[in-house]
Amino acid sequence: MIWTGRTRGHDRRSARAVSSFFWLFLAFLAGCLGEMPLAMGQLEKNQEPNLTALPLGTEQITAGRVTATISFLASDELAGRETNSKEFEIAAAYVAARFRGAGLEGGGPDGSFYHETKVRQSRVPSDTVLLQDDGVPVAHYGLLSTGEQACALRGPVLDVSLESLQSPDADLKIEQAEMARSTPKLERSDRAGIPILLIPSAVGFPGPIQLNTSAMIQDDKTMRNVIGVLRGSDETLQKQAVLFSAHLDHLGANPALRDDSIYNGADDDASGVTAVVTLADAIGGMKERPKRSVLFMTFWGEESGLLGSKQFVANPSWPLDQIVANVNIEMIGRPEGGARGKIWMTGWQESDLGILMSRSAKAWGIEIFEHPKFSSMLYRASDNWSFVERGVIAHSFSAGSLHPDYHQVDDEWDRLEIPHMTQVIQGLWLGSLPILDGTQTPSKAAR
Ligand SMILES: [Zn+2]
Repeated sequence: MIWTGRTRGHDRRSARAVSSFFWLFLAFLAGCLGEMPLAMGQLEKNQEPNLTALPLGTEQITAGRVTATISFLASDELAGRETNSKEFEIAAAYVAARFRGAGLEGGGPDGSFYHETKVRQSRVPSDTVLLQDDGVPVAHYGLLSTGEQACALRGPVLDVSLESLQSPDADLKIEQAEMARSTPKLERSDRAGIPILLIPSAVGFPGPIQLNTSAMIQDDKTMRNVIGVLRGSDETLQKQAVLFSAHLDHLGANPALRDDSIYNGADDDASGVTAVVTLADAIGGMKERPKRSVLFMTFWGEESGLLGSKQFVANPSWPLDQIVANVNIEMIGRPEGGARGKIWMTGWQESDLGILMSRSAKAWGIEIFEHPKFSSMLYRASDNWSFVERGVIAHSFSAGSLHPDYHQVDDEWDRLEIPHMTQVIQGLWLGSLPILDGTQTPSKAAR
């Protein structure tokens, strides 16, 4: 049996359609979140923390440095930092370079700055031949998916075009077609065994046809989380670590879009990565090292389902039960109305980390709070969740809104509020100081 999805002329992005599942899912997520006003006490617009009182190292966190970092990470030259792209590798090399510059050691299994995973990647072959019974080739745009092995199939054509899906027996077809289409590029291809062909509407099918296609083309690709460690100064406490993290990947580009085709992901999550490397500078620059060790990490594959962080927790290069807290940073560049310099934490009720950090940050005029909507809603929506699943106290910290540019090509760095972001990065550090120096240890909420 041969499956076809007839397409119109403008719809022939067969290669990209394989990953369309994520785009649709993420668009859905964005669609159900509205703007909501904040009811919290407001930090006055001009109220700045008293910088003279701040610990040594804070001078590393400046608007200029934040701008330098984020304007590179979110540049068009990095093409949206899609996992599995050359530009993503460049971004990872940049983060590793920044970690070296901050005086960190490599935190990977072999002492390098990379925690690596080999991932099988699959591509559809381009040599598909489709013939009618009389040997005449049928015009087609190519395959959406194929199997692990070469196949030669002969049989009737099943139309899975939109029009045919109105028919009573459409459910099964939709389910099977969806299953094949939704297979991520980086997962094993044997879940997508049903060839789906894109055939122009103009082609008619007089009878059974013959499909000859090669096996899915597969190769192993090395994917990289970047990890650096600053050893704690206390002989006992240095075995424990606080982990600052953010995802380095974003959605890449869509060549079918005119004008701007690049999903720069400035807020999501170049802003978080900027925080991580800037915190490495600040904490690495402290006169006295924290007593606990500090891990700094960026992940691949977050946008494809937290893949990089899942790989880390499955094969950790630092014992997970010695990570006292994961401060994962997501979207801190565009505050909600009236929330300048304010940070909300996801999963607020799950541990006392938010309370401990808010107490400490408050002394410098920065508020960390429970967002009435997003704190519970987005607890599972980023890489912190991979750690939560393994029993680690792990939360995401955000100081942004789910703005209209979320997951759009307009998520550009010049739309961010850099002074706000700078203040937030300072706040995350100041908030975590008592945990870094071992005077406080977060614990999970009693159940
Ligand atoms: Zn994100």
